[in-house]
Amino acid sequence: MIDERLATHLHVASLRHRDLHPEHEAHVLFQASTISALLEGAYDGDVTFEELAEHGDQGLGTLNALDGEMIALDGEFYRADVDGLVELVSPSERTPFAALAWFEPSIERHLDGPLEHDRFLRELDAVAADPDSTCALRVDGEFERVRARSVPRQLPPYRPLDEVVADQRVFELGDVEGSMVGFRFPAYADGVEVGGYHLHFISADRTRGGHVLECRVTRATARFDLAGELHVELPPGIELDSPQLDEATSRAIERAERQG
Ligand SMILES: [Zn+2]
Repeated sequence: MIDERLATHLHVASLRHRDLHPEHEAHVLFQASTISALLEGAYDGDVTFEELAEHGDQGLGTLNALDGEMIALDGEFYRADVDGLVELVSPSERTPFAALAWFEPSIERHLDGPLEHDRFLRELDAVAADPDSTCALRVDGEFERVRARSVPRQLPPYRPLDEVVADQRVFELGDVEGSMVGFRFPAYADGVEVGGYHLHFISADRTRGGHVLECRVTRATARFDLAGELHVELPPGIELDSPQLDEATSRAIERAERQG
């Protein structure tokens, strides 16, 4: 295990697939590969969903070949296909990128809407207080609108993520009840993760979902689990990037994760 200290708030350790073992520690996040690797088109990872389930019960990610958006909630793993239609993921499938937590929230806040997306994120910031904190979060409630996207399954040779995102499918769910799950990482984690908020949505009836681009909240309850540690599994050939990223990578993350 290589130890690297990104900052005093978040301790990051990396490991290889052969070193994987079930972990059930609160406030420790687990991640398969890195966002930088995904941006470069590393769409085939070596961690199965059976193994992922030994590292957390809530989170997000994607599937090998970038086959849709993944949502993990209450220990179930769901895939939202390119049209945002949801089905359960088979334990034998693998992921090129996923982040998980054993969700044990310590902060809970009710949000009264209507809240536009920016305002919603500012309210979440206020709940978390410290701008450098890392949190797993879950927001359950009613949404007047959720604009989400999913991505089509890719064929090798893989193109970089910001090119694939040009083919993303954007869809809008109106007056929908459901859950947003995801993470807030400090800006300095950009590259290893997505700095800021990364949220995936799944409807209460578990039929629709995707990567959240924008929403309008009617009313909701936000729960935060503050994390102090991140364990990153690195597939062959993938290294842990230095957190000091160049401008080009930051712009690629912006294009791939926040636009649509
Ligand atoms: Zn996403």
